[in-house]
Amino acid sequence: MKRENKLYVVIPCYNEEEVLNETTKRLTEKMNSLIKKKVISKDSKVMYVNDGSKDSTWELIKKIHKQNDLFTGISLSRNRGHQNALVAGLLTARKYADVVISMDADLQDDINAMDKMLEKYDEGCDIVYGVRSARKTDTWFKRTTAESFYKFMDKMGVEIVYNHADYRLTSKRVLDEFSNFHEVNLFLRGIFPLIGFKTDKVYYERAERFAGESKYPLKKMLNFAWDGITSFSTEPIRLITLFGGFLTFISILTIIIMLIVKLCGVSITRLSFGIVALWILGSINLLALGIVGEYVGKVYAETKARPRFIISENLNENEK
Ligand code: UDP
Ligand code: MG
Repeated sequence: MKRENKLYVVIPCYNEEEVLNETTKRLTEKMNSLIKKKVISKDSKVMYVNDGSKDSTWELIKKIHKQNDLFTGISLSRNRGHQNALVAGLLTARKYADVVISMDADLQDDINAMDKMLEKYDEGCDIVYGVRSARKTDTWFKRTTAESFYKFMDKMGVEIVYNHADYRLTSKRVLDEFSNFHEVNLFLRGIFPLIGFKTDKVYYERAERFAGESKYPLKKMLNFAWDGITSFSTEPIRLITLFGGFLTFISILTIIIMLIVKLCGVSITRLSFGIVALWILGSINLLALGIVGEYVGKVYAETKARPRFIISENLNENEK
């Protein structure tokens, strides 16, 4: 007989009193149908993570937990932001669950994709990424900024899954490996591809928020993108080095050409030589800054102390 998986659905909530009742209703139906189909075990749960909400979110979560044992919750001591709330939830849920799915409280990400995610898990996938196939309901601004974000990250050398946010299935073993990443500046979308194992994608259409407002205004989005780049890539430092090298080359070339031209008898003012000398000094400065930066980049990679490898299978273990 197939073993039923104990599923935990982790949902970070920040000032979500307007959506929680509806979210709970929809998820109750979904979870019950999955339990009925024997896709997940009866003791599976939805775990709300209260991220230091200022409204009655936590009271509501406690009430829901009392009324319905499909629901449980944890509360952070203060607002720590979406990514940290998610980590708190994932690391707590891994103690109880075989498999965890993370999603947002507003259910913009289609919960019906959970069936397919769990199917892929049963087929042996350890990570299943939910990917937005269409963003018809997002505003033009949100869609364009979000899509440019994924492209820019890719250019900066950060490996992320295009159009995947944090709607994702992860097995317990992936979360156990994830717990070895101790960095404070967390950018989950970059870390899970680093962990590896067998992965797959499930496509869904993103809906509109059914109530409440987005907790991700432009300022938070920019911060998030900046965090993503600076936590995963030393590409900006490399760009400075390259730019400095290029300018040094150009300015030295310019002064050589000017000297040759002068030797050929064309008059060049002293001021021009002075200006080019300034260029040379400026560009060497930039180059030097870039080189120092390269070392800082190495130090930065070391301080993260990320695991150097993760073993997915060891044939020797079965032979004991
Ligand atoms: N969220 C959080 N802490 C924060 C901001 C947001 O836990 O400081 C949660 C929020 O409750 C929601 C999820 O992160 O469950 C995504 O937020 P939202 O739906 O507002 O973002 P958007 O979909 O507009 O990008
Ligand atoms: Mg949302």
